[in-house]
Formats: sequence, C-alpha cells, structure tokens
Amino acid sequence: MSEDIENYKEKYKTLEDLPGIGPATINKLKEIGFKTVESLGTATLNELVSAGIGKEVAEKVIETARKTVAITFVRGDELVELRKNIRKLTTGCSSLDNLLGGGIETQSLTEFYGEFGSGKSQLCHQLCVTVQLGETQGGLNGSVLYIDTESTFRPKRVQQIAPRFGIKPKDVLKGIVYAEAYTSNHQTVLLENADEVIRDNNIKLIIVDSVMSHFRSEYIGREMLANRQQQLNKHLHKLTRLGRAFNTSLVITNQVMATPDAFFSKAVAPVGGHILGHMSHSRIFIRKGRNNMRIAKLTASPSLPEGEAPMRITERGIESDEDY
Ligand code: ADP
Ligand code: MG
Repeated sequence: MSEDIENYKEKYKTLEDLPGIGPATINKLKEIGFKTVESLGTATLNELVSAGIGKEVAEKVIETARKTVAITFVRGDELVELRKNIRKLTTGCSSLDNLLGGGIETQSLTEFYGEFGSGKSQLCHQLCVTVQLGETQGGLNGSVLYIDTESTFRPKRVQQIAPRFGIKPKDVLKGIVYAEAYTSNHQTVLLENADEVIRDNNIKLIIVDSVMSHFRSEYIGREMLANRQQQLNKHLHKLTRLGRAFNTSLVITNQVMATPDAFFSKAVAPVGGHILGHMSHSRIFIRKGRNNMRIAKLTASPSLPEGEAPMRITERGIESDEDY
C-alpha cells in the first residue's frame, strides 16, 4: 500500500508529469494554489471547476494526483499500515510529551490555547528547534513554516533555546521559513500558496500563532459571524490538507475568553466556536501557575485520556523536572 504511494510519488513528481493536462490547466492550478502533485491530491472537484477547469479533466487529474497521497478506501489492517507513516514530534518537554502520548502527531491539528502570557508562543519557538532534530532524537528532520499573526516571533529566542538540543544558534534559523500575516485574508492566502514552499524546504511542521486573532478583530458582531466561520473553516481545511499531503505536524495557538460559569470563578474557553473545536484533533489548555510554572491540560484527543502536565518556562525554553 504505502509502497504504491512511493512509486506514484516517483512517477508524478510535478504537475507536468501528470497525464492529460496541458500548460493552460497547469497555470490555472497554480493560480489557485495547487502547485504540487501532493496538494492537488487533496483538492476538491469544485475548487478546480470553479477555476475554469473542465469537469472531466479535473476529475482525472485529481484521481491521478490522489495516488500520491493516501486518500481512498482502505481496510482496517491497511489503515494500521498507513498510520505507520504518522510521526510524533517531541515538544522538548518530557512531561508534555508524556501527556501527548509521545509528542505532536503529523497529519492532524494540535491546538494550544490559554490566556496571554501562558507560554503558547514560547512553545512554538521551541518546536522550531525540535522539528529540526533527527528522528532518533524525537524530531522530524525537517524545517518549520511559521505564520505569525501577532508579531511575537523572535529569532533570538529560538537561538537561545537551540543549544539545549545540540543545535548551533548560527544554524537553527536556516530551518525556519517565516511569514507575518497582516490580515485574516493574508493568513489564508499565505497557506493557500504554501505547497511549493513546503515541498522545496522539507517543511515538517506548520505553526499558526495565533490562529484567531485577525479573525476576531476583523469580524465584529453577530451579522459577520457566519461569514467569519466560513472563512475560518476554509483556512483550517487547507491546513489539515497540507498536513496530510506532506506528512507535517500542524500546530495552532488560540486565545481564550471568559465563560459564564456558576461554579468556577475563572472558567475560560478557546475562541473560534464549533468550527475550530471540530477541526482540532487535540486541544491542550495551558494555564499559569506560580512563578514560571505552567500546567498543560489535554482537554480533547482522539485516543488519549485527559490529563495534566506541569512545566516551566526558563531561559532554556519549556522544560519539566524529568528533563534533568
Ligand atoms: P502567549 O501564551 O501569550 O503566547 P508567551 O509564549 O509569549 O505567551 O509567554 C510569555 C512568557 O514567557 C512570559 O511569562 C515570559 O516571562 C516568558 N519568557 C519569555 N522569554 C523568556 C526567557 N528568555 N526566559 C524565561 N522566560 C521567558
Ligand atoms: Mg503568543
């Protein structure tokens, strides 16, 4: 099964290798963000047809491109085989890795949420380092695509964390492809055009820090909510499809809002509504403890029990007692 995929990947390396499409169709595909065979394998018929590609051609190219990604009916035993492709990325913090059953899975969406200063961006900085580690060290041997919506990314901080993992400060930034998103639309367009960047830079982790801030500030009031959720849905779908196509980990951070709750004085919930709740496979709440302590709580997971992990933010990054 997965051997077949490898064969097709070899056979159809670029759009030009696909049978039955000419330059005009290829141009249209590129315009709507399908610049690689892998991402085309996750396209819908409707996306291609609305870009002016004939239905028959569209059906054919999607079908062929799909052979390079595992998107078809499979038997349960084959699914186990396919899931062997899924990797886990270490967070670099043992207690958090344990909570996550070993680390952050590829091909699914992991959401960290918490109030301002809880350490979400710090964790993202650390993941920029760990993704570059070899697989025996818990890394993915790849680079990171970092989409920053709050202008809080600091290369110096990544360089400060790197030596703990045996990576030189002067080397670590080469493994980071960074983009600042100025609006929710810009954020969406960046991802829609990311497939080639992902392939060419061996991206194994995509970070969106933070996913909701632009959506929240631009779409105000009830009457804009439906539209906001529609755009958000599209954005998150694109993200998971890229993760699927390129076997990358997907990490988003999210803000919280207070919820009226009769029993707890400080109950909070992630923003983004049901769309975000359904799309995030794993959700981790980070709350502040005393001093530099933080507590991560797994609040949703397809296969793991709920649980908590204590950790600390120090000069070395995010760590726990077990890391010594
Ligand atoms: P947010 O959840 O809002 O993204 P951050 O990830 O920015 O929060 O975390 C901010 C916290 O990280 C602050 O408490 C800050 O003191 C701590 N922090 C940032 N840099 C360092 C550092 N170099 N050494 C120790 N703590 C740091
Ligand atoms: Mg932040």
